Amino acid sequence: MINVTKTYLPPFDKYADYIKKIFNTGIVTNNGEMVTRLEKRLQKYLGVKNIVLVQSGTLALQIAYKILNIKEEIITTPFSFVATTSSLLWEGLRPIFVDIDKDSFNIDINLIEKNITERTSAIVPVHVFGNSCDIDSIYKLAKRKHLKVIYDAAHAFGIKYKDKSILSYGDVSILSFHATKVFHTIEGGALAINDDKLYERAVLARNFGIKSEEIIKGIGINAKMNEFEAAMGLCVLDDIDEIIKSRKRVYENYVNYIKGNVKFQLHNRNSTLNYSYMPIVFESEKLLKKVLKALLNEGVKPRRYFYPCLANLDYVETSRMCIAEDISKRILCLPMYDSLKSAEQIKIIDTINKVIKLG
Ligand SMILES: *Cc1c(COP(=O)(O)O)cnc(C)c1O
Repeated sequence: MINVTKTYLPPFDKYADYIKKIFNTGIVTNNGEMVTRLEKRLQKYLGVKNIVLVQSGTLALQIAYKILNIKEEIITTPFSFVATTSSLLWEGLRPIFVDIDKDSFNIDINLIEKNITERTSAIVPVHVFGNSCDIDSIYKLAKRKHLKVIYDAAHAFGIKYKDKSILSYGDVSILSFHATKVFHTIEGGALAINDDKLYERAVLARNFGIKSEEIIKGIGINAKMNEFEAAMGLCVLDDIDEIIKSRKRVYENYVNYIKGNVKFQLHNRNSTLNYSYMPIVFESEKLLKKVLKALLNEGVKPRRYFYPCLANLDYVETSRMCIAEDISKRILCLPMYDSLKSAEQIKIIDTINKVIKLG
């Protein structure tokens, strides 16, 4: 089976060397040497001031809302992974959906302002598939309206916007290091924070608010990454440039050789790409289903990212999101990973082209 992604695993012996070190020290969690090393290396690699490693991207979002004291209504996008919305509701916040731009698949900046009320406290945009949002416009609007901005940058590992880390924009940006993401720590995530005071709050929040043996400062949660996960991250980070280079090749093959009436994501000119996903939009949902069936017959399993539209979840106040609903129905993410073989990719492309031609 060729799946939508395949987790990059480092050479076994290399990972085993790290594990031996963990066994030697006996320290398996509570921000040990591996976590500390990975944080320092990520700060340098990504070009951000402070990285706080946590147990998942979802917990990173929840901690971000807490430390920024986010309340009531949050403007967000209906086109994302479910965690962007569910994390808000889990924290007792109310997502207010704003439709997306049909070409970038990101939140439509022109629709945000009219959805802002006196109860709005923040905007949670997503750099969907690693494609940078209109960061300058969001910054200006948020400043004028006194709103916090938390970027769900789960897909945006290593991306630069105007020659600076994409993570340096907004009050907080979060990353996911789940095994399906470009860079991973098996399970994991991080907060990228510029402000030092906010950074300290995040560090406390991930460990029950424990400041020292006798001092608890504020409500916290247990979101600590363990040493085994951080060791995986240290191994994967060594190879990340090669991984992204291979993904670029896969991306270019798809774009160059898929023929017919399909649409690819329109990328923000101000930012770099990390080839985290390979979304493709078909003319109709009917055609998408035909493509899906043909690929499954060939042992290929793409995924319908992101379907359903989050504004249609049965636990949210439903609202009509014409563009997000339409794109959700017609978009498919094709297999995209560094070790996808050329023969496998040719099979995928030929299968898609055949279906499109038949209509
Ligand atoms: C993966 C993902 C998350 C959640 O990250 P986890 O590490 O799986 O908790 C949040 N937002 C988006 C956009 C994601 O793709």
